[in-house]
Amino acid sequence: MKKIAKDRLSLLWPRIALNYQLFLPIAEEKVVNFSRWEEGAEVDLATLKTANSPKDIIFPQTETYLNFKQEGKRLELEMAGGRKDYLVFGVSPCDVASINLLDKVFLDEPVDQFYQEGRQKGVIIARACLNPAETCFCSSFKINPALAPAGADIATWDLGDSLLWEAQSEKGKELTADFDDLLEEVSREEQERLEQVKTGIADQLKDLPLVNLDPDLIEGGLNEIFASEIWEHLYRRCLGCAMCTYVCPTCHCYDLKDYDGNKCGERFRCWDSCMFSDFTMMAHGNPRTTQKERVRQRFMHKLVYYPNNYQAYACVGCGRCTEKCPVSLDMVKVIKKLGGERNEL
Ligand code: SF4
Ligand code: SF4
Repeated sequence: MKKIAKDRLSLLWPRIALNYQLFLPIAEEKVVNFSRWEEGAEVDLATLKTANSPKDIIFPQTETYLNFKQEGKRLELEMAGGRKDYLVFGVSPCDVASINLLDKVFLDEPVDQFYQEGRQKGVIIARACLNPAETCFCSSFKINPALAPAGADIATWDLGDSLLWEAQSEKGKELTADFDDLLEEVSREEQERLEQVKTGIADQLKDLPLVNLDPDLIEGGLNEIFASEIWEHLYRRCLGCAMCTYVCPTCHCYDLKDYDGNKCGERFRCWDSCMFSDFTMMAHGNPRTTQKERVRQRFMHKLVYYPNNYQAYACVGCGRCTEKCPVSLDMVKVIKKLGGERNEL
């Protein structure tokens, strides 16, 4: 294990940016999001939960598939792609876990080549979450915010004046070697302090308000949960705004569209949302014609359909939907209504 002094990070960023598009948690008008770093940017490593998740970088909101050009009867097609190498620094363990969930969808057969290229070009540097928010419930999905999450290339822990740094993959080891002159060895005392910090997180988790949420306690299979009467009441206040799906790090539905600029244009994909009335509209109409069906689809997908396919819930307990839904219709509410809550410990 290595460490980097915080006052050397200003030397690290430009070094990384020589070879990668560097994304960091950056504050702009008091909102912290992963943004492209440039000299003078207000880097905010203290904010653990960015407004949007790093999904925006790995699976961009819009992405061009191909460009086309028409000349007479001739149509020329040119595949897009060619993503640049990029590095995302400061990804929290729940967001790393969400990337693992996206991988299962996009890298399973048939492989999504655009996503695959994006993952191959990317480096993920995780940052342990040493101060979970009251809206967090990652431990309900067996994520430990203090541990180095599988799936990151490098894990870091904030020990005040320095970041402890541990390579986790081949890419991570190469990068660590590249920055060896900025890194230092970790002393035995610092290692012991890290262990104390990890224990402190375990204690903090026990005191979080949502610690008793446990989706494993939800009884019934697909048919019973689908037919549950909770959907009759829950959906009524939904605005269909799709905020919940856009901020969710695991939502991954998209639409394919053509921009036709008369004789030239492009085919691109863009995020879509199961909360929209025209989602999956087909020639015969929409398979889910009411908001009740759409709300149920979102939660059934995360708690039943995805687990049936990939043996994991499609939620990491980041709490963004809890914070952002304007009418408090979120994952916490649904899990509780379905009986997924332990009695007070
Ligand atoms: S559940 Fe909330 S955030 Fe999601 S579409 Fe409905 S109102 Fe919007
Ligand atoms: S459903 Fe809500 S809590 Fe779960 S990952 Fe998505 S935004 Fe986070």
